[in-house]
Amino acid sequence: MAYKKSIYLRAKQALDDRRRASEARYWQRHAEVVAACPEIDALERQLAATGAEVVKLAARGESSSAQIARLSAENLELQRKRAELLQTAGFPKDYLENVYTCPACRDTGSCGSYYCKCYLDLIRQTAKDAIPAAAMLKNCTFETFDLSYYSDEVDPALGLSHRRVMTTVVAFLKDYCSSFSPASKGLLMLGKTGLGKTHLSLAVVNRLIDRNFNVYYGTAQNILDRLQKEHFSRGTTDEELDDDLYRSDLLVIDDLGTEMVTSFTVSALYNLLNTRLGNGLPTVFNTNLQLSELEQTYSQRFTSRLMGSCDIIEFHGRDVRQQKRNRA
Ligand SMILES: [Zn+2]
Repeated sequence: MAYKKSIYLRAKQALDDRRRASEARYWQRHAEVVAACPEIDALERQLAATGAEVVKLAARGESSSAQIARLSAENLELQRKRAELLQTAGFPKDYLENVYTCPACRDTGSCGSYYCKCYLDLIRQTAKDAIPAAAMLKNCTFETFDLSYYSDEVDPALGLSHRRVMTTVVAFLKDYCSSFSPASKGLLMLGKTGLGKTHLSLAVVNRLIDRNFNVYYGTAQNILDRLQKEHFSRGTTDEELDDDLYRSDLLVIDDLGTEMVTSFTVSALYNLLNTRLGNGLPTVFNTNLQLSELEQTYSQRFTSRLMGSCDIIEFHGRDVRQQKRNRA
């Protein structure tokens, strides 16, 4: 249960950039302040020294010692004096403090021996930004999925209303996310265009990234383009591609059936699904095609592998995108 390595490296880089920027901000303000009020320089040094001493004692496990209490009191007194001097010199009292994106860890990413929440958030955000549909991902959550677009009139063919069906689908997918492990089954989402398959797939991606799973999302076309590129540049191993397509905890393939179908894509998809199953990893497929059309397009071999490894979810309703255009 971890993101791919490149995510951690990128997040670390972003944190380092953030810290360098806040340090630069600090020293610029420090120079300004000391020019106006030289006494502040000595105060800052004392503050840094007492702060470092407290950290050292805490690291030795002496967090409740009388010495720490004394140092902390001293530190507070120094801070009070600094605020006073700053204000007298015409600066905001927190002028030297509010340079950090995260005051809790001063942009170091750690609080004592723990990672700071800001760093964990940054890692999560980096994982989301790495998804090709990152911009859409932000807006497609379970919370923003609007069931009011689905009629509450009973559909005679189903014996249920579309809203009822879709409420069940949403509940199922939420459960899928909260109990997800790489041993979970895959999903096959079926339904006409504009019924929310992409929205709910991205909602799943969002939830699972929040739970620190390595999830990759792409349209069938995107994914096949990557596979094709790799296929024709033999000899170079693409670690990122392996991480995304073969080793991700969950791979979501959207819009299956809208890509250019060739004998290469048909066998590439089959191999992809098979390799993931061999690695014990689930895949989510979304398609506007019906099962019979899937069989015709991708062979019976592929479709039966798909059906055997996925729970089938059927979407019902009237094209939501069309309705939104009409409402607008
Ligand atoms: Zn922090």
